[in-house]
Amino acid sequence: MNLTVKIKLLTDEEQYNRLFATMRIFNHACNYISEVAYSTKTFAKFEVHKACYYNVRETYGLSSQMAVRAIGKVCESYKEKAKRVSLHTFKDTGAMVLDDRLVSFKGLEAASVLTLDGRIEVPMMVAEYHRGMLMGRRVRGQADLILDDGVFYLLLVIELPDKPIFDAEKFLGVDLGIVNIAADSTGETFSGAKVTTTRKRNTKLRAKLQSKGTKSAKRLLKERSKRERRFAADVNHCISKRIVEKAKALGAGIALEDLGGIRRNEKTVAKAQRQQLSSWSFHQLRLFIEYKAQLSGVRVAIVDARNTSRQCPKCGYTDEANRPTRDDFECMECGYADPADYVAAVNISRRAAVNQPNVGA
Ligand SMILES: [Zn+2]
Repeated sequence: MNLTVKIKLLTDEEQYNRLFATMRIFNHACNYISEVAYSTKTFAKFEVHKACYYNVRETYGLSSQMAVRAIGKVCESYKEKAKRVSLHTFKDTGAMVLDDRLVSFKGLEAASVLTLDGRIEVPMMVAEYHRGMLMGRRVRGQADLILDDGVFYLLLVIELPDKPIFDAEKFLGVDLGIVNIAADSTGETFSGAKVTTTRKRNTKLRAKLQSKGTKSAKRLLKERSKRERRFAADVNHCISKRIVEKAKALGAGIALEDLGGIRRNEKTVAKAQRQQLSSWSFHQLRLFIEYKAQLSGVRVAIVDARNTSRQCPKCGYTDEANRPTRDDFECMECGYADPADYVAAVNISRRAAVNQPNVGA
C-alpha cells in the first residue's frame, strides 16, 4: 500500500525565492525538452537524453540530476501513445521531481533541497498523524516539490508493507469511549482518566485566560492547547500500539465500529461529556490503530455501530433500557450484567466475525 504524505515547507523569504527560481527554470527546461521530443518525434528517455542533456545543462544551468529529472518528467508525459498528438507545455510552477540526490531529510524536522544556487535546509511541518506513520522509517526521496497557494510542499510517497494479513477467525473488538478511551472484548480497558483531568483543568484555565484577553494570556493559551494535543497524541500512540500488539499476539484481527463509534447521539451521553470529548483525538486514535495494524499485518474490520451497547451478547435482546446508566449494561430479558463498554466491544467483535467469514474454511 502506498501512501502520499504532504509535507509543508516552512520557507523564509530567501528560501522561497530560491525554490521558486529553481522550479521555474526546471519547467522552462521541460518546455525546451518537450519541443525537441515533439518536433523530432523522439519519446524514448534514452533518445531524448542523448538529444537534450548537454544543452539543458548548459542553457539552463541545471545540475546533472535535475536535467535527468526534467527529461524524465517530459518523457513520462508522452508515455502513452495517445498523448503524443500535441506539444506538451509546462507551467512555471509545475511540479518538480526530486530524487534522493536532490532532496534529503534531517529526521522529520527539515529537508535539504538542492536549488540552482546550492543546497538549502528548510524546516518542515509534518502533521501529527503522518508523524506517527513516518516514525521509525527512513524517509527518502523521491518526492514531488509543488507550489500550492503560495506555499511549497513536498509530496512524499511512502510504501507501507503489504504483509500477509492474518486469517483472522477471531476479532479483538474495540470500543472507543469516553470514560475509558478504549475497551476491548477481552475486558481490558484503556483509561482516559488522565486525559480527561488534563482537559478539564485546561478548559478552566482557558476560560480564565480568555477573559483576561492580554497578549501574554493569549500566548499562554496557545502553549497550553499545544501541550494538551501533544499529550493526547502520546496517549493515543500508547493505546493503539498496545491494542495492535495484543491482536497480533492473539492472531486476531481488530474490529472497530463504523464512524458513529463515538456514539455522540445517544441520549445516555450527557451533554457535559460530549463537550469534553474532543473529536480529533478520537479520530486520531482510530487512525493510529488502523495504520499500526496495517504495518503489523493485522486485519481491521469495520462493523455497523447500531445498538452495540444496547444488545445483550448473551441472549440477543436489544433494548435501550438494557443500559440503565452510561457505564452499565444490564439485560432486561436475561439479567446478564457487565460494564457497558465491555459489552459493546464484545458485540463489535462478534459482528466482525459474522460479517467476515473465512472464505473456503
Ligand atoms: Zn440478555
